[in-house]
Amino acid sequence: MIIERVMDATTITSWMREIEASVRAERDHLVQLDAAIGDGDHGTNMTRGFEAVVQAFDADGGSPPGKLLMLAGRTLVSTVGGASGPLWGSALKSGGRLLGDQANFDGPQLVDVLAAALASVKDLGTAALGDKTMVDALEPAVETLRVRIAAGDPLSQALGEAASAAEAGMRATIPLQARKGRASYLGERSVGHQDPGATSTALIVRALQRAVTS
Ligand code: ADP
Ligand code: MG
Repeated sequence: MIIERVMDATTITSWMREIEASVRAERDHLVQLDAAIGDGDHGTNMTRGFEAVVQAFDADGGSPPGKLLMLAGRTLVSTVGGASGPLWGSALKSGGRLLGDQANFDGPQLVDVLAAALASVKDLGTAALGDKTMVDALEPAVETLRVRIAAGDPLSQALGEAASAAEAGMRATIPLQARKGRASYLGERSVGHQDPGATSTALIVRALQRAVTS
């Protein structure tokens, strides 16, 4: 049986721990993907960043979920030099800002948080769907979650569908030519490779499903 918890600060802490564990487990894979069309640091960037987030959370004295997301965002910006640090950093800060000081949040609010995160990535990075970036995984995830939550699906199921949409978006980056970021310097030679940022984004959405489904 699937048991759903109320989403609160614990949900955000679990999400960050799940992300840290999965990017660490996939570090070499992310490095290989980035070595093919970038500079090979994506796995180490993401691992270093989320390890720092977990450390910052350990030192935190009971902040509400929105403040934790903002702390995570600030930590990523300050510890990750690559494009993914500022992009995910501003994403989590924007999402967290929406929750203010409230102690709990529901499914529709989670959709709003993730939509704000996506808007922030698109704003800062100016990437659109199909540019072979993390947007190709995040946008379908947010749209799927929005539709599923509006349809009244249980949160864990909706997040499972959102994570599957992110994974499909990740795979769909393979035939694309990169139009943003380092991979765009390769032009046509970026075709045939899966985007590293879309890959870690799929891990991040799957981690959220695990954090919410206990
Ligand atoms: P860097 O490219 O600076 O080495 P990373 O290797 O950590 O940074 O991250 C690379 C990933 O960042 C790419 O695979 C892509 O998904 C994402 N990315 C790069 N530039 C952009 C952008 N302008 N908008 C959205 N995502 C981007
Ligand atoms: Mg890189």
